[in-house]
Amino acid sequence: MIRIWAEQALLEGGWASDVTLAIDGCKIAGVSTGTLPEAGATRVGALLPAPANLHSHAFQRAMAGLTERRGPDPRDSFWTWRQLMFRFLDQLTPDDVQAIATFVQMEMLEAGYAAVAEFHYLHHAPGGVPYARLAEMAARIAAAAEQSGIGLTLLPVLYQYGGCDRRALGPGQIRFGNDPDRFARLVEEAGQALSTLPADARLGVAPHSLRAVSPEGLAAAIALRPDAPLHMHLAEQVAEVDEVQAAWGARPVEWLLAHAQVDARWCLIHCTQMERHETLALAATGAVAGLCPITESSLGDGIFDGVAWTGAGGNWGIGSDSNIRITLTEELRTLDYSQRLRDRSRAALATPEKSTGRVLFEGAAKGGAQAAARDAGVIAPGRLADLMALDTSHVDLEGRSGDTLLDACVFAADDRAVSDVWAAGRHLVSGGEHVQRHAITSAYRAVLRRLTAL
Ligand code: ZN
Repeated sequence: MIRIWAEQALLEGGWASDVTLAIDGCKIAGVSTGTLPEAGATRVGALLPAPANLHSHAFQRAMAGLTERRGPDPRDSFWTWRQLMFRFLDQLTPDDVQAIATFVQMEMLEAGYAAVAEFHYLHHAPGGVPYARLAEMAARIAAAAEQSGIGLTLLPVLYQYGGCDRRALGPGQIRFGNDPDRFARLVEEAGQALSTLPADARLGVAPHSLRAVSPEGLAAAIALRPDAPLHMHLAEQVAEVDEVQAAWGARPVEWLLAHAQVDARWCLIHCTQMERHETLALAATGAVAGLCPITESSLGDGIFDGVAWTGAGGNWGIGSDSNIRITLTEELRTLDYSQRLRDRSRAALATPEKSTGRVLFEGAAKGGAQAAARDAGVIAPGRLADLMALDTSHVDLEGRSGDTLLDACVFAADDRAVSDVWAAGRHLVSGGEHVQRHAITSAYRAVLRRLTAL
């Protein structure tokens, strides 16, 4: 049994002071308020539920900063970015992917995330030849989580085609491809690879998008693990909506709602291109909108209608997607600022009862837990101990408490205010640093040097 004592904590019922938390194994065993700090307890400032990062492509972390030049095409865009991504990933070995994934998971923990849902589509060797072990790359993501300690929800991705017209995968996509039968075997083997991880690891499935799967492939993926998380990219780019409309006969959200039983096990990533009626209809299903505000800004995707979505009671969470920057506070700030810039408003997502920072932290924690299938997202007995602590001696948090503390954290401070993180009770970040920061960073630097020298 380990104990944490916090000056203040955001509990299921709201803020409390002088809180002692008991953790037994991976779960919160007890919560007491109005307590004195006891010897042997880890003493922290403000204790919060730590969200799961609900969308990541780990290997893309090593591409950050490589795609900011204007090429010969004057319309540099998502699609030219994707070409560079395809060339880059052709160099990556399983060892590279493991080192990159370990590093980015460490950064996620230091930013305050306790878990990650890895949307994993880099399956095969260059040229598209399967590795001797079909789920080799999935096993490397699991090995990364074993070292970093992060809570892992692994989402093997079904990627069948190079576009809605069912063209064959291009040279850059050939490492992703499977038909539904081989995909089913891959998911099975990926599940075996997770068996070495702690019991909070989860396995879901991810049909990539309506661009990359057939209706039959989508149905097969949905049926594969009926109770597990199901994630899919949806309605990210205007050209994607047009392509889906031409091939499938409806806009992506409209098609999905008409042909699939979308419910709380679903997490739809991006949803930056929705009409108002789609926003309201999708919010009503209980599915999570997987928002990636930094990546969506980087790629010029568009702005999610967070005001209408939250107004309709929609669930949402945060993903870091391209992993160009790993920072929870900046994701939350970018989400709220995007709404303000579009609507010329302020405090766009606040409610009469809760400040912007409170709404953002609670929304990300609740939606992230749902999308990652973790019994977390609030601090209460019996829940997984996914926790983060803020250093209340950080200069931007001086004199702040309660909701105002969260507002200061999101809008004035940054992730350096995060002092401690526990993933299912594993104390992985202390004093703002991951317990294996040096070794993990050295291995990542070696990969970057090798890739740069190619
Ligand atoms: Zn993505």
